[in-house]
Amino acid sequence: MRRVVISGGGRGIGAAAVELFSSMGDKVVFFYKNDDDAANALCHKTGAAAIKTDVSCAENGINALNKALELLGGLDIIVLNAGIAHIAQICDTSNGDWHNIINTNLSSVFYLAREASSLMVKKHFGRIITVGSIWGKCGASCEVAYSASKAGVRGLTMALAKELGPSGITVNCVEPGLIFTDMNKCLDDEALASICDEIPAGRMGEAHEVAELIAFLASDKASYINGQCIGVDGGWGV
Ligand code: NDP
Repeated sequence: MRRVVISGGGRGIGAAAVELFSSMGDKVVFFYKNDDDAANALCHKTGAAAIKTDVSCAENGINALNKALELLGGLDIIVLNAGIAHIAQICDTSNGDWHNIINTNLSSVFYLAREASSLMVKKHFGRIITVGSIWGKCGASCEVAYSASKAGVRGLTMALAKELGPSGITVNCVEPGLIFTDMNKCLDDEALASICDEIPAGRMGEAHEVAELIAFLASDKASYINGQCIGVDGGWGV
């Protein structure tokens, strides 16, 4: 039975990953920030355990990881998925907005990957999967902080893959395009339709379609895939 930690697993893409790993018989612990109802319902449905924490704070996130390790008795796979979006022109993006986005989307990936990798190196095995974004590759208008955070996740993934590859650990990034989750509920039907016109697949993606790639990268089938940033975007990012 594999031991899996997923940050931001209460809703959306992370929740789809919790469901998928749990359905494969893995032991899963996930982190969430606010939504107790969603987290409790997911635990009930899957048998996974939830830890409430704010991963934008290093101390909180590391404490949560240590609790997860106690519950799991070790760690084989970590999915670094927690993230928030912020749509605003740069002149309307405060220092606080910037720090909140960078700390949630990028710094949490840094310190959770650091803590996880020190365990994985000892047993010469591990899978680290980060969740970036199409905007970390292309840059989005009016999403400077978000795009910068996800470009950072991209760079971190590639660098860490080179560092940890000799230790039997793979580090890969999934880069979703427009996925049907609460993150996009700020977009009205007209905005969504006009974005879908630009996507070769002609539609939004589903959370489970991203979770399938995460699960593949965590599997033995992906043992020779390392340092890759792979789009799940219906061809939008090409
Ligand atoms: P959702 O908003 O649906 O879910 C986000 C999850 O992350 C929630 O469980 C939330 O907890 C948790 N979370 C957010 N902030 C924190 C925090 N500080 N500490 C702990 N947990 C936190 O997002 P998505 O599923 O859409 O996004 C998942 C990832 O995919 C993100 O990194 C996002 O940037 C990326 N992505 C998403 C795209 C999309 O179109 N949806 C496109 C490209 C990338 P709670 O439930 O308690 O609020």
